[in-house]
Amino acid sequence: MQRPQKYGESFSEWFSWIISEAEIYDYGRYPIKGTGIWLPYGFQIRRRVIELIRMLLDETGHEEILLPLLIPETLFAKESEHVRGFEGEVFWITKAGLEELDVKLALRPTSETTISYMESLWIKSYKQLPKKYYQIVSIFRYETKMTKPMIRVREVTTFKEAHTVHESFESSEEQIREAINIYAKFFDMLGIPYIVSRRPQWDKFAGAIYTIAFDTIFPDKRAVQIGTVHNLGQTFTKVFDVKIQKRDESIDYAWQTSYGISERVIASIIAFHSDEKGLILPPLVAPYQAVVIPIYQEDAKDMVIEYCNNVAKALRENGIRVYLDLRDDMRPAEKFFEWELKGVPLRIEVGVREITNNTVTVFRRDKVKREIVPAQQLVERVHVMLTEIAQALAARAWKELISNIRISKSIEEAAKILKELGGVVLMPWCGDERCVYSKMQGIEGVDVIGEVMEESLKKLNISLDLFKGTQCGFCNNQAKAVIAIAKKY
Ligand SMILES: [Zn+2]
Repeated sequence: MQRPQKYGESFSEWFSWIISEAEIYDYGRYPIKGTGIWLPYGFQIRRRVIELIRMLLDETGHEEILLPLLIPETLFAKESEHVRGFEGEVFWITKAGLEELDVKLALRPTSETTISYMESLWIKSYKQLPKKYYQIVSIFRYETKMTKPMIRVREVTTFKEAHTVHESFESSEEQIREAINIYAKFFDMLGIPYIVSRRPQWDKFAGAIYTIAFDTIFPDKRAVQIGTVHNLGQTFTKVFDVKIQKRDESIDYAWQTSYGISERVIASIIAFHSDEKGLILPPLVAPYQAVVIPIYQEDAKDMVIEYCNNVAKALRENGIRVYLDLRDDMRPAEKFFEWELKGVPLRIEVGVREITNNTVTVFRRDKVKREIVPAQQLVERVHVMLTEIAQALAARAWKELISNIRISKSIEEAAKILKELGGVVLMPWCGDERCVYSKMQGIEGVDVIGEVMEESLKKLNISLDLFKGTQCGFCNNQAKAVIAIAKKY
């Protein structure tokens, strides 16, 4: 298959090409629309992404659990706004064996109802709070828009959902801040750039008081949601009767938050950390951080392989994930091609010349450049290079995101910019959602991302002063905030 262009309208094709050629994910061949298969190489990337989020949640006092996949309709339908929000997306089981079921069973699209039901049995007192649970599971959503591998699927295979319970609203607000910080750290460690915003009320999670979202911009210049954080208030605790005794001995409903990420994180790694040759994996999640490739004529084979073995062993003993590529039915150039495509951050080439000089040649995938390193300094140099690669990838990704963010003072101009260039446009805003809602009705193909958080603007190197005090881009009132609009996935 010919390589499609990564940027612009052919991004989808490019994405399908890369996940197939790099043996990450087999999509579109299993006979259920919107489902894919994680292949061994892709599974290893996925596993490391999961390990990272697990570490970040565990170290902040979250506890991992596992809830049932099935939710009886009687539970799922209890909270009316929630069920309305999901009604078009739920897969239902109506039959088991030969019998029609009395109560339909939903394949979970998310687990707020399940956990709230259980929390009503588990949690009785403020002394147990705050409580932070999470699980990493498959969820099912009947997507009616065009499905896309990892990005819009009907079985989301890598859904990390956290659910927390609190004594007070203040404590739930603190949890929202913690969740935002955890996700920011997570995306930073993966070098994925993001914009954090508060979704408008009409686009919040069904049942939440409000939703904070992380969005990024893909190479086709469309915004894509990569994480969400919801303050659920007492919506579910009231319906499921999660009552607690408070510090002052009064009885009240508990407060909740929930937050989730999915395999869109992995899609983002692929979208940002890649070039025309293929992937460039961040060392943190690369299945192999270095691949060692022997280069020899038949008469020097034993000597070169022995040297390679020593190189691989030294790196492994120092915590580097190494693959020693001894396949002898492939020429070195073919191996180079394959590992460049699969995004291994470092390639170590060893031939007779390297052995004679007691060196190795190290190829940096991100720079597409070779460097000769004395053998004695290899371990140290590899550690430094891996750190540099992670930093370079993140810097490049942030630069790319920022290059796709523009500022406009009027919705007409903003819509024109989005139509021509895509990306995200930031506009001054009065803070009243009604003015945005009414104006947006007449504009096709453009969506509101939300009110950009101040911290997020800082990270984008954009000053709030550019917007404050100017006129709202939607009405004539004075602007107090910054709103982001974009073409969305
Ligand atoms: Zn306004």
